[in-house]
Amino acid sequence: SSASTPIRATLFPGDGIGPEIAESVKQIFLAAEVPIEWEEHYVGTEIDPRTQSFLTWESLESVRRNKVGLKGPMATPIGKGHRSLNLALRKELNLYANVRPCYSLPGYKTRYDDVDLITIRENTEGEYSGLEHQVVRGVVESLKIITRQASLRVAEYAFHYAKAHGRERVSAIHKANIMQKTDGLFLKCCREVAEKYPEITYEEVVIDNCCMMLVKNPALFDVLVMPNLYGDIISDLCAGLIGGLGLTPSCNIGGGGIALAEAVHGSAPDIAGKNLANPTALLLSGVTMLRHLDLHDKADRIQNAILNTIAEGKYRTADLGGKSKTSEFTQAIIDHL
Ligand code: NAD
Repeated sequence: SSASTPIRATLFPGDGIGPEIAESVKQIFLAAEVPIEWEEHYVGTEIDPRTQSFLTWESLESVRRNKVGLKGPMATPIGKGHRSLNLALRKELNLYANVRPCYSLPGYKTRYDDVDLITIRENTEGEYSGLEHQVVRGVVESLKIITRQASLRVAEYAFHYAKAHGRERVSAIHKANIMQKTDGLFLKCCREVAEKYPEITYEEVVIDNCCMMLVKNPALFDVLVMPNLYGDIISDLCAGLIGGLGLTPSCNIGGGGIALAEAVHGSAPDIAGKNLANPTALLLSGVTMLRHLDLHDKADRIQNAILNTIAEGKYRTADLGGKSKTSEFTQAIIDHL
């Protein structure tokens, strides 16, 4: 219900196309009379010693306090010697699971019209532990960390999600035949959790075979749970099945009930500042956030307006083969509300 006091939520417009698509979200939420008051936070220009990154401590506190937020893409300069902003956020806020729904959009034709997948990515460790060093010149080493604690936690989340959303199957994606210890432990944890959910079918699929199956027939899968790097790759593959990165939302689930929604895509420097970006992915991430807040009426209204605008086909951004600017597409959605 739309209470009289608005809900405070943190908004990181982010880098590149971030501010343009965040503007689109703000306008559409305003037009739909969503009872949210945004607390906007920008990434700083200097490293904050308290977070060891360009994210300020105040920004992190804002998310901790509000427990809900929406984040635009944040660019990571390669090899500049400081923590990636996204890694800092995930670590500092303990964002342990990244949920990425991916479904065919009615009215937007791709090779498949029956995609309905949920990718759940472990978000705090694995290949993203940031432990890389040079052993001797010409030899570098990177540590992939898998812990029982983080694996059980993401597996729990995946099964809980499956049950809560009426899903039938959870597939653990791995390469345990080669990564015997790390992926082996991940699978062991998934199996333990699976035993607590006898009503949900559990299976294990090797990642290379999973890629082949997804491309051949995505309807073979339901909920997929996997370590960090595999989740990164598989979710982009899934985005490609339904029309690209401009469309796929996600939500980061963190300790203490934090939900920080964000698009799957990055800052798209090639089209930034040109009013060309597709705001759909960030908008649908915002819809995920509304559902987390139990604002289902608003979520449905906005989601339908987006899907109807895309299905109608009159206003589409360039990534979907259209000619509309970000602002024109945004206005068309507002007209559909
Ligand atoms: P990207 O997702 O930014 O772009 C890949 C391609 O998809 C580009 O051609 C881009 O134009 C297109 N694209 C992405 N989003 C789009 C949208 N909304 N509408 C239309 N087209 C869109 O990936 P990249 O180029 O590899 O990364 C750029 C920067 O973003 C890097 O610094 C990277 O570290 C960062 N990044 C951040 C996040 C995040 O904040 N979660 C995720 C991925 C990448």
